[in-house]
Amino acid sequence: MRGRTAVVTGSTSGIGKGITRALAEAGTNVMLNGFGDTGEIEAQRADIEARFGIKANYHGADMTKPAEIRDLIAEAEGQFGQVDILVNNAGIQHTDEIEDFPDERWDEVIAINLSSSFHTTKAAINGMKQRGWGRIINIASVHGLVASVQKVAYIAAKHGLIGMTKVTALEAAGTGVTCNAICPGWVKTPLVMAQIQARADQDGISTDQATINLLREKQPSGQFTTIEQLGATAVFLCSDAASNMSGATMTLDGAWSAQ
Ligand code: NAD
Repeated sequence: MRGRTAVVTGSTSGIGKGITRALAEAGTNVMLNGFGDTGEIEAQRADIEARFGIKANYHGADMTKPAEIRDLIAEAEGQFGQVDILVNNAGIQHTDEIEDFPDERWDEVIAINLSSSFHTTKAAINGMKQRGWGRIINIASVHGLVASVQKVAYIAAKHGLIGMTKVTALEAAGTGVTCNAICPGWVKTPLVMAQIQARADQDGISTDQATINLLREKQPSGQFTTIEQLGATAVFLCSDAASNMSGATMTLDGAWSAQ
């Protein structure tokens, strides 16, 4: 892994942060991306650089803006020489029934959770093919495989991302470039904490009880998947052991999708 470069979208928080750290620990240079407090992002960047002896840079591309996404990949190629690993992770959630779902929230979820991965892949895949090695990892969701109520845009985007994963894998087959999707169930990140808080407020219960209810409803293991487990899965997908694995969906969902 040492000497390789990874771009991880949405890596200033949650799962992307965990994956970036795992890739850096494995020796990969990383380009961080995502929103957040400037000082906190710089602290995160400096920490992984010092801790793991790799090079880490940051690019603030907004995943709703194709020109900024192209610039993210171009900057990573310019600063590191190449992009070997692309992790399409940035994502948001909005919950409402279809009849109440605001049009602009539909557009935003589709742009960030689906279209951004098309734009990053389009910009990065040719270089990977030419160099004969590349790993594209799409952070989909168990919601790319099964549905739940009130998440129409998220679930449409994640199902679409799994379709995109398969096309990318087919088009790259035989070139040394693989593309796979990771499908987590519940992971305790700010994205899910907001949903737990909303349920606690709506049902008039504690966040602890709302957490237990959330897990009990969908995730039979009763445990959250961790960002460390997802980081290790991304590192595995970059290893030689996974070189003939492409177009696959890896579920880390505590048996959610087995039901
Ligand atoms: P999070 O809210 O902790 O992190 C989301 C990241 O995306 C942040 O870095 C944020 O700044 C970035 N982001 C949001 N909008 C952006 C934009 N317009 N441009 C650039 N960056 C933007 O969420 P998370 O839970 O870590 O989610 C990461 C991914 O994992 C998402 O794609 C999500 O759908 C997926 N996922 C999460 C869970 C879960 O339970 N948390 C489960 C399955 C899949």
